[in-house]
Amino acid sequence: MNSPQRPEIVRNPTRSVAIGSISIGSQHPIAVQSMTATRTQDIDATVRQIHDLEAAGADVVRVAIDSRRDAEALMEIRRQVSCNLSVDLQENYRLAEVIAPHVNKIRYNPGHLYHHETERPWQDKVRYLMQVARDNDCAMRVGVNCGSVDPAVKERFAEDDSISPMLESAWQHCAVLDELGFDRYCVSLKDSDPQKVIEVNRRFAEKRPDVPLHLGVTEAGMPPDGIIKTRIAFEQLISRGIGDTIRVSLTVANNRKAEEIAAGRKILEEIAAGRVRSVVDYGLKTLNIISCPSCSRVENEAFVELGEQVREMTRYAEQYRITIAVMGCRVNGPGETDDADLGLWCGPTHVNFKRGKDTIGAFPYDAILPRLKAELDQLIVQRSA
Ligand code: SF4
Repeated sequence: MNSPQRPEIVRNPTRSVAIGSISIGSQHPIAVQSMTATRTQDIDATVRQIHDLEAAGADVVRVAIDSRRDAEALMEIRRQVSCNLSVDLQENYRLAEVIAPHVNKIRYNPGHLYHHETERPWQDKVRYLMQVARDNDCAMRVGVNCGSVDPAVKERFAEDDSISPMLESAWQHCAVLDELGFDRYCVSLKDSDPQKVIEVNRRFAEKRPDVPLHLGVTEAGMPPDGIIKTRIAFEQLISRGIGDTIRVSLTVANNRKAEEIAAGRKILEEIAAGRVRSVVDYGLKTLNIISCPSCSRVENEAFVELGEQVREMTRYAEQYRITIAVMGCRVNGPGETDDADLGLWCGPTHVNFKRGKDTIGAFPYDAILPRLKAELDQLIVQRSA
């Protein structure tokens, strides 16, 4: 008996974008990426982590730089590793010209360019970044993130519509790059909710099927939940031909970061083999814990452990549709927890805590769990009333 024919996945006709020794888009294999979570200035630890990621099969490794000292550290790291490197400029876009000669790709977040708008309009900043990328043989990624969309774009849409501002922001930036005649870029549109990741990428690809997409569910959390959430989004998108490069973001300790690559490769293999099984509305009907994958901005390494403790402590509330966010830093934590019912973000000595958009306070690491439990219990009583 013949086995049933697997439907071929017809990839979107995206253009080819070279990133160092690989290319993404068009018919190139879907690339698997990760990001270092060590402090960038800890050169030995960062080099070790990059080697781990490379050994696991990473096609591109992203490193965050926040300061000139980070940039100098990355130059030394570059001397010690040979993989394709992407730099995450965070809010310091001017460091692009310092670091671009040493990397293969520049990632910026449009939501970070509106700061100091009076000093220089965002379009000028994009032009500057493009010129730096062009002069240094770098690709670019326009990385739109649900938690940090330009407020001027956001206010043009209804408050409960988080998808349209992300799309608008991405399209605006694509238009500027297109006008400048620069087509060596890809786009990412990330959210912590896999259903939103599916919708926003599907809608983007409908309008711009030519632009390669980097897929990811941000703050997916700890394995196995983080892998399941990511898999739901990837299966739905990749089996429809959408997606040219991926990252599975997991909250894991630094010595387990290579699990992101292993998980990404496994998901791709299974999709290619036709083993697509995600049908559940995961995370929307039950307790949903989202947590960031951590990066060089983490100021207290207890963050990963805290995420695990939160998951253990909250198991009793699994049947409630409540979202708890646990973020690794003070910079993105406040914004990235905005949509959660209860949000925590980690500082050097204290954990900041809020309920919805209201700040509750900052608590020492050994006092936060009982405080969280008290708020969770109150929320459960309200939801059960
Ligand atoms: Fe890094 Fe902070 Fe984002 Fe976590 S929330 S990945 S620590 S920038």
